[in-house]
Amino acid sequence: MNIVLLGPPGCGKGTQARRIEENHGLKQLSTGDMLRAAVEAGSEIGTQLAEIMNEGQLVPDDIIIGMISERISGPDCAQGFILDGFPRTLVQAEALDAMLEQKGLALRSVISLTVDDDAMVERISGRFTCAACGAGYHDSFKPPRNPGRCDDCGDRTFSRRDDDNAETVRHRLTAYHDMTAPILPYYEGRGILRPVDGMAAIDSVTAEINALVRAA
Ligand code: AMP
Repeated sequence: MNIVLLGPPGCGKGTQARRIEENHGLKQLSTGDMLRAAVEAGSEIGTQLAEIMNEGQLVPDDIIIGMISERISGPDCAQGFILDGFPRTLVQAEALDAMLEQKGLALRSVISLTVDDDAMVERISGRFTCAACGAGYHDSFKPPRNPGRCDDCGDRTFSRRDDDNAETVRHRLTAYHDMTAPILPYYEGRGILRPVDGMAAIDSVTAEINALVRAA
């Protein structure tokens, strides 16, 4: 089964995609994570990508489409995958359809997390993760139980994304509304769009998504 998880920055896509991976055995494919790995690798293209991402702009479609096309054929995607952060433009949505068709695959459901923009700026600006295990925290909403120590693995090193600052978040939200939101009607017209209230508590959002995945 193949699923798309859509929503503005900060809506909880990454957290929910990881839970879907655990609960349903679908492979999480996050284009943001793939791009950050390319930036970490320190290549020339990585430097260009970092500039685009730190401005809160979208990376060109051809780069992203190439990355995803390679990944969805991997053996780890044999049970299906959940796309987290892709597609983000109509061109990407159409390219996804073409590559799925070519591989004899189909999209079962597009889950769209709906949220308030203003809350997203606060949510993103305070978030950080454990550098060792990736557990997510927030300065105000979810600090570690023991300050400076990860609840899950006990590590003391944390990291913040370079693009998780208020100014970049506003650009990322604008990019979402201008470039990504227009693909919602594309999926709605096909009867596979499933909106979920992303402002609800994290576990309630997971429960609603679990039910949608089971029904898909
Ligand atoms: P994310 O981790 O999904 O919030 O993505 C972080 C940044 O990576 C975005 O703000 C974009 O600059 C870039 N990015 C991730 N996925 C895509 C995509 N599908 N198309 C274009 N740019 C993307």
